[in-house]
Amino acid sequence: MATILDGKALAAKCKENVKEEAAALARTPGLAVIIVGDNPASRVYVNSKRKDCEECGFFSEEYALPATTTQEALIDLIHQLNGREEIDGILCQLPLPDGIDEEAVLMAISPEKDVDGFHPMNMGALLVGKEGFLPCTPYGIMEILAEYGIDPKGKNCVVIGRSNIVGKPMALLLLQKHGTVTVCHSRTTNLKEVCRQADILVAAVGKVNMVTADMIKPGAVVIDVAMNRNEAGKLCGDVDYNAVSAMASAITPVPGGVGPMTRAMLMKNTLLAAQKHQN
Ligand code: NAP
Repeated sequence: MATILDGKALAAKCKENVKEEAAALARTPGLAVIIVGDNPASRVYVNSKRKDCEECGFFSEEYALPATTTQEALIDLIHQLNGREEIDGILCQLPLPDGIDEEAVLMAISPEKDVDGFHPMNMGALLVGKEGFLPCTPYGIMEILAEYGIDPKGKNCVVIGRSNIVGKPMALLLLQKHGTVTVCHSRTTNLKEVCRQADILVAAVGKVNMVTADMIKPGAVVIDVAMNRNEAGKLCGDVDYNAVSAMASAITPVPGGVGPMTRAMLMKNTLLAAQKHQN
């Protein structure tokens, strides 16, 4: 049976470390979170971020704006936050309502306060291996692998999904750690065969049970990024968990795997931003 990669326990440990380091700073780290509209999932995420800030002893501010907010008004708010010294990190919860250009909004966040790691400056830094904020989800996955002594070096790593926030940065981080990386997407024709070569398989698609046991190399490490709802409304990932755990050597559960580490890495990035701003 596979080892369960316990992201929840690791996240608690990471947040404890962040809290200790934050307490040693002259000024409390500050995070501003912007939510536009009334997407219920976004509301849940924003509430958890506020709770994480409280746990880590951070100062946090929330801006809940109506769905009718214009792009100009949103960017104006971001510019104000960029200029405020006590705000170390700015996060704009995605998705944004139709009519607002997400890229323009993300570009407006100062790269030094971009604790989500979505600004092209930080993405570019990751591409060329320079210092910058790492996107929280792939960052959290690398921390899980490190915690459990899983070294990507020389391994076949397969990432399913090529989004800017998960798939692509995930592939780059595995490559940085000397994995041999393949990225799959909706036009990949031989998905099962490619996945069966994977020593480390990362699924970031958003389709219930799309990763089945016959796609798994015996002994593979399986990381399930997705957060889906099954027919019964229960939170689940992309991986057919029970069948795949019988084949894998290690697996992340959903919930309790990647999700909590994504949140913990947001706190870590905010701490890093505060440390940089105070030096
Ligand atoms: P996304 O932007 O929708 O990207 C999904 C990717 O899956 C795309 O690259 C798409 O390919 C690919 N894909 C779709 N159908 C496929 C198929 N049949 N075979 C192979 N690839 C296929 O999603 P995302 O933002 O990366 O998020 C992915 C999942 O992770 C979602 O469930 C999301 O909720 C979850 N998520 C979780 C966390 C966390 O903290 N746990 C954080 C972020 C996201 P194309 O590019 O060709 O369209």
